[in-house]
Amino acid sequence: MNKKRIYIVIGCDTDPDRVNFLPNVPTETLGWSGMLEGIPLTKEKVEDIKDSQGNSPVFSWCLRADHQIKEYYGNYNSILELHKPFFLELENSGDEIAWHPHFFKFDEQTQKWYQEFKNIKWQKSMLKNAHAEFLSTFPGRAKSVRMGWDYHNNDTFSTLNDLGVDIDFSGIPSLFIHPKNDSIKSVNFFDWSLSPNHPYYPATSDYRREAVGDERTFKMLEAPNFISQSLLWSLISGLVFAKKMKDVSQIFRALKKPVYWIGITGKTNLFAPIVNQIEGDLKKKDNIFFITYFHPDELIENNSSLYSLQYLYDNLKLLKAKANQLGADIHFIKASEIKTKFM
Ligand SMILES: [Zn+2]
Repeated sequence: MNKKRIYIVIGCDTDPDRVNFLPNVPTETLGWSGMLEGIPLTKEKVEDIKDSQGNSPVFSWCLRADHQIKEYYGNYNSILELHKPFFLELENSGDEIAWHPHFFKFDEQTQKWYQEFKNIKWQKSMLKNAHAEFLSTFPGRAKSVRMGWDYHNNDTFSTLNDLGVDIDFSGIPSLFIHPKNDSIKSVNFFDWSLSPNHPYYPATSDYRREAVGDERTFKMLEAPNFISQSLLWSLISGLVFAKKMKDVSQIFRALKKPVYWIGITGKTNLFAPIVNQIEGDLKKKDNIFFITYFHPDELIENNSSLYSLQYLYDNLKLLKAKANQLGADIHFIKASEIKTKFM
């Protein structure tokens, strides 16, 4: 009998340093110390962790090329151009150069960046233009995408599909955060309320769900983040969401379709419920895709007690121990490899 297999995909939303999250972040421009200092530290730190084939972890670095970058630096691909040798070195080490576009727009009135979630025409043209510049720096790359704030709608999904992107791994099954009304200018809105906890080819009529019957599907595979379906942990995070958003419906949602998620740089006792989900899933399937992500500023000294490089290291060890306990293999793979492993 073949051994069961856990494919581990580690993405990084390679965003600039977050103000308040790191000390001394510049406000007049964007700071990149998480990316420039944190990534090399991480590569060195995790090297001794090996998968069942003796390979060290690989990462899918989702790089920023979007309207906000253009506003700050002049071009969509400015960050790619500025640090081209840095990214090529990562690629040469076995990692992937992927894409992380945000729909950030600047509001002159409040002098704040917000998420443009209404203007679909703008979203589509921004994605097309930024993608063209991405490929002018890195031809043939951006085959995998993690969207800013995990956001999609049918048009953005269809646009990436038509641009030839193979894998989207933005999804967080069951989670849904929506503005109370259309005039709100804020961030962090997305809708994965109907999505399953495994990769799927979405229906062209609704990116959030698998196609049924002979419905048409996108060619781009959706490979959502691996989540815990623990009722207890779902309720805890539902309470946190409800408080943050002042919306009690988040509690009912948490009870109806349990979901709990935290990134791989998260504190190990908070990450453990997600690792524990593997056991139940592996009983039903031969292979599972453990897809996770983090932000680079979590890799260096920061103002939070919840995220660190040490936690990322410990969580990888925890994943390995869980696989051992279950008699399963682990394979570190790039996001772009999900499609060939998923049949
Ligand atoms: Zn981001």
